[in-house]
Amino acid sequence: MKECLKNILIIGTGGTIAGTGTTGITCHYEPGKLKLNNLIDKIPDIKSLANINYIDMFNIDSCDMSFEKISQISKYINNNIDKYDGFVVTHGTDTLEETAYFLNLVIKTEKPVVLTGAMRPSTSLSNDGCLNLYQAVALASHEESKSKGVLIAFGDSIYSARDVQKTSTYKTNAFNQKDLGCLGFIRDNKIYFYNISNKVHTVNTEFDINNIQKFPKVEIVYFYMNSDIKILKFIAQNSDGIIISCAGCGTVSTDWFEEIKNLVFEKNKIIVFSSKINNGLVNINKKFENNIICANNLSTEKSRILLTLALTKTHDISKIQEFFDKY
Ligand code: GLU
Repeated sequence: MKECLKNILIIGTGGTIAGTGTTGITCHYEPGKLKLNNLIDKIPDIKSLANINYIDMFNIDSCDMSFEKISQISKYINNNIDKYDGFVVTHGTDTLEETAYFLNLVIKTEKPVVLTGAMRPSTSLSNDGCLNLYQAVALASHEESKSKGVLIAFGDSIYSARDVQKTSTYKTNAFNQKDLGCLGFIRDNKIYFYNISNKVHTVNTEFDINNIQKFPKVEIVYFYMNSDIKILKFIAQNSDGIIISCAGCGTVSTDWFEEIKNLVFEKNKIIVFSSKINNGLVNINKKFENNIICANNLSTEKSRILLTLALTKTHDISKIQEFFDKY
């Protein structure tokens, strides 16, 4: 172990970065096949960046990630904070942003926690996983990465867990923060920060993963032209909270509007309005008289994460709105 280098723990969870398939081909592969040592061995120079430790926690397609599995990652990091200087989590890209935001709300450290993944399997031509993992370790080892919340290293860029979104189904430059750009760039192992997220995270949140026995059931309902009101009614009967992915800046049809009024005023349902645009702000119709929570610019999927954690603390609408304004 080199004394001057930071001790970094890489936690493997699977995804395309650990995927294998036909040599040279980027599609038709299976995610979650390689163990971390196979990946790390492909990047010899990674050991000059940091003392590398690793644990293969899962090896799954990230579509099979769950709150229980993310809790396991969170608890592992929280219980091993003193042993390492920074953490990297390898993850499938499909739900990477959801895990990142969840961790951002429950991890209790100012030390860097960085997620990364890949768009091309390890067996493809020009696979991106090796460079992404190398850069994630560089970012997790960097002094300036402290106290910035959970970060994402992907495609030579740095993103915040609060705002990152997957925006391409196949390109290696698959993530961005839409209107908000990115936090910075990575060139080889050089880190360049330009922005930070103003939102509260990690050590300053009130969410404690150790005190959550059971996660409330929060579901997303997607509004689109002629969408069947029965879907909304079904979800309302089978959930503790609902995120409505509205059109535009928070709009729905007349029949949805009437049903939402009924759910809120007659059935005391907890409803958050987000937008299917996942960019820009959401407005709430004044006729709801502050009985609907506004996601502001938080994405639909991340609104679900936040409402799930919020409902472990309170059912008070104004308090939950404060959470949405703060986180
Ligand atoms: N669906 C897989 C996953 O999220 C593959 C996508 C990826 O990692 O890029 O794990």
